[in-house]
Amino acid sequence: MTSPRQGITILGATGSIGINTLDVISRHPNRFQVIALTAHNSEERLFQQCLAFRPKYAVLTDLIAAERFSTRARIELPELIVLAGESGLNTVVTLPEVNQVMAAIVGAAGLNSTFAAVRAGKRVLLANKESLVMAGKLFIDTARNCNSQIVPVDSEHNAIFQCLNYDNTRFVRRILLTASGGPFRTLPISQLESVTPEQALAHPTWIMGKKISIDSATMMNKGLEVIEAHWLFDLPSERIEVLIHPQSIVHSLVEYEDRSVLAQLGNPDMRTPISYALSWPERIASGVSSLDFCINRTLSFEPVDRVRFPCVDLAYQALNCGGTASAILNAANEIAVQNFLNRRIRFTDIHQIIEATLAAIPAQGADNLDAIFAADIAAREFAQHLGVST
Ligand code: NAD
Ligand code: MG
Repeated sequence: MTSPRQGITILGATGSIGINTLDVISRHPNRFQVIALTAHNSEERLFQQCLAFRPKYAVLTDLIAAERFSTRARIELPELIVLAGESGLNTVVTLPEVNQVMAAIVGAAGLNSTFAAVRAGKRVLLANKESLVMAGKLFIDTARNCNSQIVPVDSEHNAIFQCLNYDNTRFVRRILLTASGGPFRTLPISQLESVTPEQALAHPTWIMGKKISIDSATMMNKGLEVIEAHWLFDLPSERIEVLIHPQSIVHSLVEYEDRSVLAQLGNPDMRTPISYALSWPERIASGVSSLDFCINRTLSFEPVDRVRFPCVDLAYQALNCGGTASAILNAANEIAVQNFLNRRIRFTDIHQIIEATLAAIPAQGADNLDAIFAADIAAREFAQHLGVST
């Protein structure tokens, strides 16, 4: 007898992670069934995905885009149920036929729906690191209470998950998150203040969405990942380290008490961690090419330059402060990244805005979503006006 297919909802289907997830799923039609696909306003891409994967539901959080999409679907995809807004996201993560939810919306916009999937006891494939950064303790406690399994998709955390044999951190001395160092690892520091969004978006090893690409250029991405690792693996910040590895072949490392170090290696292609998350504890074909050790002959490592990349220390500071500090850090970063992309601030303003926001907004307890969103809103309002020359 063949086992029933796994029902999947993909939040953020039209983004970089969403597209890679559908690529892996398309290789295993007997294993996975796409139940719902969601996007913010990328109607055309979502429509093409619906034509190809025939989900039961499509959700657009932008109401105008949803209306247009729905009109078109009535003719071309009459069986498709089209929902709009955040409530639509909450519906498609809680459906009984959904076993797994790929949480791949970018930023704080992903928190509510990812949290709803956790509360519904689904297996959550977590790409949306910002939701753990904002609401880590609440998230992990709720997952435990609701029997929801969180499988990390972020390549570093997926690597650690593989090296740990699930989440068994007994005998672990420390974990080392690798980071490419982004496009500005060797640029003279004096030139950082005049770099353009185009230069910052040109990541040397990974192809990703805009927000995470800028986060990689400032290395706030690694800072967010330190916080993410703290919650996922229940390790104190002093046992989570960052190591620059420009080739992005070693995706992270775990050192054990006996000083044995396990690492996970592979080409920098998100389909590897995505396929592992989809199939764990089994393994399935991902479409990724084999690592050629004769081409990738140099694997180098170096410490993080903390003067060049002050965002890393800001993230440790927020994590050690606790409560809503990480939500404040995340919100200030989202605003600063957006303003940099819109050419309203300089690249070097980003860390200053985050630092000033952390100093201005006091951290509170983060034991419910209301408190977390209140901190998020206060930080956004404060950060919005900083460094902007009008
Ligand atoms: P992306 O910008 O390519 O895609 C974002 C997706 O979210 C799109 O489908 C978009 O329609 C949707 N979206 C955007 N704003 C929304 C809103 N307000 N409401 C609902 N949906 C919205 O982003 P990405 O690079 O795929 O990253 C997604 C998440 O995965 C991020 O949290 C990122 O940090 C994480 N991640 C990405 C990569 C990568 O390789 N791209 C690697 C590790 C982790
Ligand atoms: Mg990562």
